[in-house]
Amino acid sequence: MTDNFDLEHIWHPYTSMTQPLPTFKVKRAYGATIELDDGKTLIDGMSSWWCAIHGYNHPELNQAVTDQLQNMSHIMFGGLTHDPAIELGKILLKITPPSLDKIFYADSGSVAVEVALKMAVQFWTAQGQPQKTNFITTRSGYHGDTWNAMSVCDPVTGMHQIFGTSLPNRLFVAAPQTKFHEDWNPQDIAELEQVIQQNHENLAALIIEPIVQGAGGMRFYHPEYLRQAKALCEKYHLLLIFDEIATGFGRTGKLFAWEHAQVEPDIMCLGKGLTGGYMTLSATLTTKHVAEMISRGEAGVFMHGPTFMANPLACAVALKSTQLLIEQDWQANIKRIEQQLSQYLMPLSQLDYVADVRVLGAIGVVELTFNVDMKTLQQQFVDRGIWIRPFGKLVYVMPPYVITQQELSDLLEQLVDVVKTLQGAH
Ligand code: PMP
Repeated sequence: MTDNFDLEHIWHPYTSMTQPLPTFKVKRAYGATIELDDGKTLIDGMSSWWCAIHGYNHPELNQAVTDQLQNMSHIMFGGLTHDPAIELGKILLKITPPSLDKIFYADSGSVAVEVALKMAVQFWTAQGQPQKTNFITTRSGYHGDTWNAMSVCDPVTGMHQIFGTSLPNRLFVAAPQTKFHEDWNPQDIAELEQVIQQNHENLAALIIEPIVQGAGGMRFYHPEYLRQAKALCEKYHLLLIFDEIATGFGRTGKLFAWEHAQVEPDIMCLGKGLTGGYMTLSATLTTKHVAEMISRGEAGVFMHGPTFMANPLACAVALKSTQLLIEQDWQANIKRIEQQLSQYLMPLSQLDYVADVRVLGAIGVVELTFNVDMKTLQQQFVDRGIWIRPFGKLVYVMPPYVITQQELSDLLEQLVDVVKTLQGAH
């Protein structure tokens, strides 16, 4: 099944080139179906890592790309602009926190995070506080694989050991402990308060994934954490950065996760589902105040400008994808998926090797007491006609929103069956 050229020459995410894991060749994908080269079809449980919210090969999204292709696929953004960027900007400002007013388009989630961090530093430098250059974050976070994004990822499950002292030293506090549905424990914020209090003079911002910590552990935490964190940022003069790259566009049951807490950040990063998974695009949004301060600084400008900034094809499909999402009853749809995820997955919590089962919006997570053997489990899922990519102790799903009730039942029945067969495997 695995292609030999691919195996020998092409790097895949987080894999070895001497002992690469098998890959499955995809011929095409449509709706919530992935069709492999040999004709086998898989029901998609991953949305290509949070992105393909409307499924694959969507006629309206295809049309948006095709239409834009007739005009231009790309044009430099320095000194030029275009409707796809403008119209996308208008819709983004309507659906994100009211205080956000300025948009910086970049090419990937990691770059959006770099941009956010740079904005925060320029903001303080412009106010004569050039010592405010560091960042604080919680453990179990994930913000991307570029240098500074990596520096604010969880220091243990992230890549800190490998890159050692070449990474800037950030401040870390414990991950929020009170779960989303539990009663708030006021002690949960104590460490953040203490570390901010001791270090605020050198801190530019707190960066955090609101409500759902994604790749760092698929943890869902209490909205009160964000309210208290916001209060601390105001008290000690830190900017608050929300990384909504994974949580955005309906995934958690709200259009954006900040809504669970009604806390507005100073800077917000979007990506992944922004283009419905069609191509790579990200946006970093900030307030008028932050943008004006940056523009008043010595540099007088914000110092970033990627070659593919606001790529018109990506903006056109992002506009259509966002329109499609908000024009439909997406909330009812996510509820439907949430209920089905709960119905199938919750009973697994009775197994002694299942540490926790949690569901929020269109995200379902089964946390085991041991690390899974990804290679074996992946093959078992594929043999059963489903696409799920577990990692560490986690078997989790976040299907495209177009998945039908029947497809989701089939996917979850197989998942549950496979998890049950893990009895004795650890
Ligand atoms: N932030 C979060 C919360 C993410 O989940 C990711 C991607 N997994 C990123 C940032 C980085 O995005 P990208 O892979 O597009 O660089």
